[in-house]
Amino acid sequence: MRISRLLSKTLREVPTDADTISHQFLVRAGYINQLVAGVYTYLPLGSRVLKKIENIIRDEMDKAGGQELTLPALQPLEIWQQSGRDKTMADVLFFLHDRRDRKMVMGPTHEEVMTMLAARYIQSYRDLPVMLYQIQDKMRDEPRPRGGLIRVREFFMKDAYSFDADEKGLDASYQSMVTAYQNIYKRCGLTYLMVEADSGAIGGKGSHEFMVITDSGEDTIIHCPACGYAANQEKAVSVKKKFEGEAPLAIEEVSTPGMKTIEEVAGFMKVAPSRTLKAVFYMADGQFVFGVIRGDLEVNEIKLKNQLHCNDLRLATDAEVQEAGVVAGAASPVGMKGIKIIADDSVNTGSNFVAGGNKPDVHIKNVNYPRDFKADIVADIASARAGDKCIKCSGKLAAVRGIEVGHVFKLGTRYSENFNATFIDEKGETHPIIMGCYGTGLSRIMASAIEQNHDDKGIIWPVSIAPYHVYLCPLYREGTNVAEVADRLYEEMTAAGIEVLYDDRKDAAPGVKFNDADLIGIPYRVTVSPRTLEKNAVEFKKRTEKAAEVIPAGDIIKKIKELV
Ligand SMILES: [Zn+2]
Repeated sequence: MRISRLLSKTLREVPTDADTISHQFLVRAGYINQLVAGVYTYLPLGSRVLKKIENIIRDEMDKAGGQELTLPALQPLEIWQQSGRDKTMADVLFFLHDRRDRKMVMGPTHEEVMTMLAARYIQSYRDLPVMLYQIQDKMRDEPRPRGGLIRVREFFMKDAYSFDADEKGLDASYQSMVTAYQNIYKRCGLTYLMVEADSGAIGGKGSHEFMVITDSGEDTIIHCPACGYAANQEKAVSVKKKFEGEAPLAIEEVSTPGMKTIEEVAGFMKVAPSRTLKAVFYMADGQFVFGVIRGDLEVNEIKLKNQLHCNDLRLATDAEVQEAGVVAGAASPVGMKGIKIIADDSVNTGSNFVAGGNKPDVHIKNVNYPRDFKADIVADIASARAGDKCIKCSGKLAAVRGIEVGHVFKLGTRYSENFNATFIDEKGETHPIIMGCYGTGLSRIMASAIEQNHDDKGIIWPVSIAPYHVYLCPLYREGTNVAEVADRLYEEMTAAGIEVLYDDRKDAAPGVKFNDADLIGIPYRVTVSPRTLEKNAVEFKKRTEKAAEVIPAGDIIKKIKELV
C-alpha cells in the first residue's frame, strides 16, 4: 500500500476525548474514526488488524472442532421474552420496530438463536457433541462508552456455543475452548490472566474471564501470587478476620450526638471500624432492602444482586430511606420489622458490635448476631481487597487492573429448557442438551494489544496482527536513484508475500516519515537513502529496538521472510 494513496492521515494532536493510550494512538495513527459515541469506522489500517485477529480466532476455533455459521443480527423480541432476557438485559438492548409494528432487537449475543437452531437440528445423542461459532458485529447500548474500542456500542465478537449430552462432555468442550483462547491470546501477543468470574446476565454454573493486564483496564482482579488464585473482584473471596473469645454482653444505648459515619462513631466509641456494624440501603426491583456489613468492609453489589436474585439494584435515595422508616446515620437491624434484611457473613466474625440505635444521635453497644437481630439472608456480600488473606493458601492477595477480552461460561440447561432443545439418549429417554458459551471481543483484543505494546512514540504491533509487516521508507533526494530502488523493492517484497506500507511521499521530511512509522507501529522499517545506496545496502530497524542495522540490499527480502 502506498501511503500517498492511503485514505487516513496521521494526526499530531492527541484527541481531547481520548483518555486511554489505545484510543489516542488508534485515532492519531488513522486506524479508527468515530461516527457517534461508541460507534466507530475501522479505516483501512484498522480493518486489516481486525481481519488478522479474525483469522487467528477462526484458525483456533476450527482446530478445536468448531463449525462456523452466521446468525442474523436482527431478531424478534419474542425470543428474548422467552428467555427472560428482554428484562435482564433491558439496559443494553437496542429495541426497534419493523413496518408491521413487530418489535425487534439488535443481537447483543446469540444464546437464544443458537439454542433454537440446536432444537431444530439436534435430535439424538449421536448428533452430539456440537460446537458452533460465528464472528459478527454485535450491538449493545452501553450507558457509558469509553476508551475508544474498549467499551463501545457496536463491536466485533466471536461467540461460540457448545452442545453436549452430559456434564463430562461440557467439561471437555469447556476445556477445549479454554485452550483455544489461550492460543489466541498468545498468538495475538497479549499477556493475560485467566480469572474466576461472575456469570452475570448470561446465567450459568461456572465461568472464567480472560483479562489483559493493564492499568487502563476497567476491571479489578484480585489474585494470590503465592498459589495462583485469581478472580474478578465481582466474584473474588477472601478470609474475613475473626474476633473470638469475647462473651456476649448486654445491649447498652450510648448517646452519640452528631456522629453519623462509621469513622465518627468508631472514633467516638474508641473501637476499630471492624468492631462496628454498618447499615446500607438498596432498592432491589423496587423493594427496599436493608443491608448489614462489618464497618471495615464494603458491599460488593454484584454479590448482593446475585443473593437477592433481582434484575435491578441501586442505592436507595434519602427519600426512600425515610419512607422505609429508617434513621440514616443511626440505623441498625436491631428491632427492625417488615423490612428485608440481608447480612454479610462478617456478622458471624465477632461479638459485641457497635451498631445504630434507630433513633437520631443514638448508637448501641454489644450487638450480637443472631441474639439481637435476624436476617432474611446471611451470605458473603463483601468485596475482597488487596492485602486480605487468600482463602486457598492464606497468602496475601494483590490487586491489578485488567481489560476483559474473553469470557467462557458453563451454561448448563438454562437455555435448552427455555427453548426445548432436547436429545434422545441410548435408552430412548429425552434430556435437555447441556450448553456452554464462549465469547471473545476482536475490537477489545485490538485495543488491549496497544495498551500492552506501545511507547511514547506510538504503537508497537505484535507481527501477527500488524496491518503490514514492513514500513518501506525512502529518503528521496533529487539526482539519486532512491525512488527507483524503493519502487523495485516494493514490488519485489510484495511479490514475495511481504505486506508493505510504502511511504512514497515525495514532500515529507525524513523526521516526519520516521515519526509516522513509529506512530503507526509497523514491526519492521526498511529505509533507503542515498547514503545506504552508496554501499548498495538498506537500513533495517525493528520497531522494538532503537538501533538500526545496515543490510545488503540483496539480502533484505530473505531476512524479512524469516521474521514474518
Ligand atoms: Zn493463595
